[in-house]
This record gives sequence, structure tokens and C-alpha cells, in this order.
Amino acid sequence: MIISKNPYNDKEIEKFQEFTKDQVDDALAKANSVFYSWKNTSFAERTKLMKAAAEELKSNKQEYAMDITLEMGKPIKQSISEIEKCAWVCEYYAENAESQLADEVIETDAASSYVSYEPLGVVLAVMPWNFPFWQVFRFAAPALMAGNIGVLKHASNVMKSANNIQKVFENAGFPKGCFQNLIIGSKKVEDVIRDERIKAVTLTGSKPAGSAVASVAGEKIKKSVLELGGSNALVVFENANLEEAVKTCVTARFQNTGQSCIAGKRLLLQKNIEQDFMKMFIEQVKALKSGDPVNEDTFIGVLARKDLAEDLEDQVNRSVEKGAKILLGGKRDKAYYEPTIVGNVDKDMAVFKEETFGPVVSVTIFEDEKQAVDLVNSSSFGLGVSIFTEDFEFAKKLVPQFEDGSVFINELVKSDPRLPFGGTKESGYGRELSGHGIKEFVNTKTVYFN
Ligand code: NDP
Repeated sequence: MIISKNPYNDKEIEKFQEFTKDQVDDALAKANSVFYSWKNTSFAERTKLMKAAAEELKSNKQEYAMDITLEMGKPIKQSISEIEKCAWVCEYYAENAESQLADEVIETDAASSYVSYEPLGVVLAVMPWNFPFWQVFRFAAPALMAGNIGVLKHASNVMKSANNIQKVFENAGFPKGCFQNLIIGSKKVEDVIRDERIKAVTLTGSKPAGSAVASVAGEKIKKSVLELGGSNALVVFENANLEEAVKTCVTARFQNTGQSCIAGKRLLLQKNIEQDFMKMFIEQVKALKSGDPVNEDTFIGVLARKDLAEDLEDQVNRSVEKGAKILLGGKRDKAYYEPTIVGNVDKDMAVFKEETFGPVVSVTIFEDEKQAVDLVNSSSFGLGVSIFTEDFEFAKKLVPQFEDGSVFINELVKSDPRLPFGGTKESGYGRELSGHGIKEFVNTKTVYFN
């Protein structure tokens, strides 16, 4: 039995009977058979349905958002924004998929030669709970528009949202089987990947989960895309607009109660602005309102599960044992962890080396840009980095020195349907979103006429 519980009050929301082997088999058979008709539908037809999915999301955002909030503790306003962003990604691919996947003529010795992009078939998505809708839609919208079929293995704590997502596509009028939620625990994922009807897999989540999934996919020579989180740095140089930088850094770290792969987790400050920056930063973090996630004015909810809050507490405690200092917060109450600022942090401490998935920010001081770049790159993750400076030329020179998948200047790292999203190093491989994302799960076919 898979159980959804409200992490704010520990009350059970719903129980889900796990699929039997036969039920998984039926779902995969349905997915496989619909692929042969779906891949031949016109872009016009897919566009119509994807736009209907966007409408379904927009018209029922309150209900879908409330289930997210109850299942994983995200403050309701942020859940509503998440649903709106899903509608945006549906509209974006409804409008752009056809041109992104148009044949590409390439001049060669042939009478005619070109590249065409064809769907692969049924793709498995293993997804996490932190953005229960967004993580799935940013896979599903391009995959379906490309002519693929989606099957979802969602995180066990957000199964109601997982069922809701299937409902969105069904209510929008997609043929049955185009997108299905498999109600299974993680132990059953290996068998699904091994099934010959699954052609590829995408996973967003932790390194152990990514590594387990990619190993099986590799053994079966199936394409995989991994988005495994990060420990983004927020680098504030002395020539930054400090007031703006403070505001952006607070949002970058604390939205979604800090449970975001692209959150700025490591704050790096140039030495001579430390005092001015920290005074404003501490004040603004102190002002963040914690409370019941269903209340409109709550900004900090609870973590999605109590064990995640305990892990975070342990990371902070291990860092303090090595000499870090708690400048604000630092206390846990069940699944709630106070917004916390940890100073005096160096490269060897847990809050710097590991991904902190909650409202904790580490602060490290640097002298010059060389040291700043070294600190940024010393992470085993490489998802993104934000730098704050008013000197555009200085920023441009720094960009190639970072090993990350994205560099944002005077802005927090954020995903946008129009831009590729993904990491390097232990943050994973492959890209989601934009024209790059939709081409991850296609057969790039060379055609040559002589
Ligand atoms: P997991 O990585 O364990 O879960 C993510 C998804 O993978 C879930 O659907 C989970 O299913 C599934 N999964 C887990 N293990 C396996 C496996 N061996 N084989 C196949 N599927 C698997 O995340 P946690 O919830 O345990 O969170 C732990 C940490 O992971 C966080 O603290 C954070 O550091 C990181 N994380 C990163 C995210 C990101 O956005 N990149 C999102 C969430 C977590 P099930 O729920 O059934 O276990």
C-alpha cells in the first residue's frame, strides 16, 4: 500500500493499492499499442490536445494545487504558481514542437539529404515530489508533442498528484494510454526499465536513484536523461547592487521551502561587503513567514517528509562540529525546519559539500574572483550558478570559467520552457525544455537520396 500523508499534521490523505505485475503489464501494453496510432497523429491534432491540457490546468488550478500542498507541504500560493507554469510549458510546446522537429536539410554530395526527428516510443519518467506537477510536465509536454508515450513512476508520497496528472491528459482528450501513472514503489522500477516496450527513461531525483536507474538503462542500452539536483552557488561581488542581490538570494534559497534542485544553497560573499550584505540578508530571512501551507500568507511550509528534515538537521549539526556557526535558526520541529543561515563555512563541511534540500543557506567569504570561481567549481554538482555584479564585461569573462550547466547574472537560476535546463558532473546529463529537451527522446534519422 502506498500512503499519502500531510507532512504538516501527519494526517493520512489517501491510500493507493500498488499495481500488481499484471496491472503493470496491462498499462505497458496499452501504452505500446497507442504509440502506433499516436506517432502518426498530425502536429495540429497534438497541438489542439496540448492546448486543452493547458486549459484543464488553468481552469482547475486551485484543486490541483491544493492536493500538492496537502501531500508535500508546499505553501498554497507556490503550488498555484507551479500549476500555472505547467500550463505555460504545455502552451510553449503546443506552439513550438512542430518547428523544433521539422526536417533539417543538409547540403551534401547527395541529390537530397536531410535529418528527420522521429519518436522513440514509450518513455518512463521517474519523478520526485518537490515539484510534483512541474517535474512531470516538463517531461510530458515535449515527449507527447514529439509523438512519444509517457508512463510515470512518481515519488511514493505524491501519488494523488500523480493520478491527477493522468487525469489532466485524459480530461484534455488525449487518447487513453498516452500518459499513465503506474502506482508502484521504487523496487519495481528495474523490471519496468527492462521491459522491451520501454524505450528510454528520464529521472529527476537523488544521485543513488539516478545511478540505479541509469545502470539498468545502460545495461539494456536504453537512452537515459538524469537531473540529479545541485548545490548552486550565489556569488556576490563587491561591485553588485547589494539590495537587489539580497532580495534575489533570499528567494533563490528559500522558495519551495528550500527544496529545489536549482536553489542557491551556497552563498559566497566578497570580503568587504560581508557586513552590509549579511545585515540585510538576516533581516529578510527572519521576516519570512512560516506556517500552515494551506494559508495564503505562508512562505515557508514544512519539508515533504520528517526524515528529510532530520537529514537536514544532521547536515547542519555535522557542519557545526567542524566549526560552522549558526547565525539564524537551526531548530527542527517534526517536519518543520526553521529558515537557517550557517556562517564560517568552508569547503569540507557538509552544508557546502552535500546538497542541502531545505531552508538552510551556507555562507563562505572569498577575497577575489579566482577564489570565487574555485569555490563554485569545487562542488561535485554542476547545475547552475548565479553571480551578482554591475560590471557586464567582468561577468562575461567569468562565464566560461564555471563548469555548470547554466550561469545566471543578477538573477536566480530558474527553469524556463524556452531555455535548456540540465547539469554537468553529479547533477546529471541531458537537457530538458526548449528545442534541446524535445530532441532527447527522438530518433535523429539521417535520410540520403542519391
Ligand atoms: P529519491 O531520489 O529517492 O526519489 C526520487 C524518485 O526516484 C522517486 O520517484 C523515488 O521513488 C525514485 N527512486 C528512489 N530510489 C530508486 C531506485 N533505486 N530505483 C528507481 N527509482 C528510485 O529522493 P528522496 O525523496 O529520497 O530525496 C532524497 C534527496 O534527493 C533529497 O534530499 C535531495 O537531495 C534529492 N532530491 C533531488 C531532487 C531534484 O529536484 N533533483 C528532487 C528530490 C530529491 P520512491 O518515492 O518510491 O522512493
